[in-house]
Amino acid sequence: MRYLITGGAGFIGSHLADHLLAQGHHVHAFDNLSTGSLDTIAHLADHERFALTVGDVCDKPALEETADGCDRIVHLAAAVGVKRILEHPVETITTNVRGTEHVLEIAHAHMLPTLVASTSEVYGKALETVDDLDTLAEEGPWVLGATSKRRWAYACTKAMDEFLGLAYASEYNVPVIAARFFNTVGPRQTGQYGMVVPSFVKQALAGESITVYGDGRQTRCFTHVLDAVEVVDALMNTEAAYGDVFNIGQPNPVSINTLAERVREMTGTDVPIEHVPYEEAYGEGFEDMRRRTPDMTKLEQTIGTRPERALETILNDVIAHAREKRQRSSPQAPVASLTADAFNAA
Ligand code: UDP
Repeated sequence: MRYLITGGAGFIGSHLADHLLAQGHHVHAFDNLSTGSLDTIAHLADHERFALTVGDVCDKPALEETADGCDRIVHLAAAVGVKRILEHPVETITTNVRGTEHVLEIAHAHMLPTLVASTSEVYGKALETVDDLDTLAEEGPWVLGATSKRRWAYACTKAMDEFLGLAYASEYNVPVIAARFFNTVGPRQTGQYGMVVPSFVKQALAGESITVYGDGRQTRCFTHVLDAVEVVDALMNTEAAYGDVFNIGQPNPVSINTLAERVREMTGTDVPIEHVPYEEAYGEGFEDMRRRTPDMTKLEQTIGTRPERALETILNDVIAHAREKRQRSSPQAPVASLTADAFNAA
């Protein structure tokens, strides 16, 4: 099978490429290298079943050319990361909506099975505002804040992607799945765009204070990227999954305070844990959600499994990767430089 992965040089995309290649598939990654990087796929440069095209999902002809001959699409390319969204709202909205339109038009033209990545952000503040709600189920409500609060733009774009994907599925019978990823974390993720786990690990290893935003009692359900890519693969191989939306999350919540303590313990450091007000971290008027816990019933019923890897496993893997990266970038280490030409985009 030939897979097109948009965002294939990104954090999730690179792990999905590894997973699919290990099963004997061909992978063509399409990435504009804005938040993705050649680093994440450097180990695939000589792989005979892997190719990379550097391009933007807003450039439909380039995307169309790359999709030529592919059997399936996994659409991961998006502007992601809370910090990035706050700093570049126009780019976020345009890339996330126009890019998905292009992907779905191409999927429609060739009737390609397609998975569109969405996010648990779409639930917004539902858990704290809707009575009697303990977990977030796909058919449940979503509650966003005002349009003047930029954070919600990301959720809105992804909800639009879902609507569009489901519309192509119901109106034109295009086999489309929408997948809501819950705080996917693991090796290769960068903290550059605000993601909490790589940020904390980087801070601890550098001997800096761990910066917890707000009171740190907000919780998240961290999902190992290896679980997430296994689920993507399983969903795409399950006929009953098409035309539907699924949560992809590990359902045990952890507070950000506990996360900071676990990172400190597991890195063997004694760095201080510092609480930083949201306004200082993200600017005036920022809204965070207190809880975000997935209901995994639908996924389990559909594919017979759900993400299980525990926080300890995630942190072990992230810390090991961050240590290795620090070693590689130490002044004594030889500098390896790779260009996009090193990847065979045949
Ligand atoms: N966070 C934090 N310190 C950081 C980065 C994030 O305390 O350096 C908090 C953030 O405010 C949020 C949680 O950690 O409550 C998860 O943030 P992230 O950006 O990773 O994902 P989100 O769930 O907000 O999309």
